[in-house]
Amino acid sequence: MEQPKTLQKAIRHFSNERVCIDTIAALRWPEGKPVCPACEKTEHYYLATQKRWKCKECHKQFSVKLGTIFEDSPITLDKWLTALWMIVNCRNGVSSYEVGRAIGITQKSAWFVLHRLRFALQTGSITKLGGNGAPVQVDETFIGGKARFMHRVKRERLSRNGGMQGGSGKAVVVGLLERGGKVKTAVLAHRRENGPEKIVREMVEPGTEIHTDEFPGYYNLKDGYMHKVVNHLEGYVKENIHTNGIENFWSCLKRGLAGTYIAVEPFHLFRYVDEQAFRFNNRKDADNKPLKDWQRFELALSQIAGKRLTFAEVTGKVGETAF
Ligand SMILES: [Zn+2]
Repeated sequence: MEQPKTLQKAIRHFSNERVCIDTIAALRWPEGKPVCPACEKTEHYYLATQKRWKCKECHKQFSVKLGTIFEDSPITLDKWLTALWMIVNCRNGVSSYEVGRAIGITQKSAWFVLHRLRFALQTGSITKLGGNGAPVQVDETFIGGKARFMHRVKRERLSRNGGMQGGSGKAVVVGLLERGGKVKTAVLAHRRENGPEKIVREMVEPGTEIHTDEFPGYYNLKDGYMHKVVNHLEGYVKENIHTNGIENFWSCLKRGLAGTYIAVEPFHLFRYVDEQAFRFNNRKDADNKPLKDWQRFELALSQIAGKRLTFAEVTGKVGETAF
């Protein structure tokens, strides 16, 4: 299969609907045969004019969109795939205004398209971090309000000096980064002393070496983990973690939130964090070589099957439609 190398080439490539269908089908059914969503059999006819398959077993028809985030969408596949290309390859993310203008749909439709795509970008991985002996760095950051993006230590210093008001309206993002591995995140609505500890216990294998700052909320981690406080390990941190570590992820997230997504509601914050984590976790391959744009695109596209997200689920507004 031809693999476009730039956004411009991708747009031209996917301007042919058959190419879109074949691309999605190849990633959705890697064994090479479309699987009937109704009976899971793989014998079928292709109805070329309707661009659907008809199952030989149960005689039901299905399109490549059925059971994916594209299902029930009147937006054409070329637009969906262009939007996906943009969201996985724009370093700082891409706003619904930009996508709407670029592919010729309303901002409201583009907003929904992007949220569905973000949903597909969630890794859904249930594997815990650690376990293979690599240490895991854990850190938190605050997002929202005037301190829209600020490291906890700095914010607390300001707070003590009377420069900041309390913690209302701010969400806490907990980031966990396995050395040489992937970042996982969790968004907490409020900061609770035991919040980050609970996240660590959910996401990291017991016995793993954990690096944190001096926040007292981490102190209980010595029960079950090898807990090391970062400031006591300064040289080590500088060499191995600081430059490629969680700070790097925070700065990517910060650029996206500050520059591209001007007003993110706390309710939607985790989706933007997931989006950034997808790009961050897929910037390099296993040999540490930068991933190409089409590789990141294909990876994302392979995640779309079986994922649905309705407008009501995104907004809580039942009965309203984005299109
Ligand atoms: Zn069937």
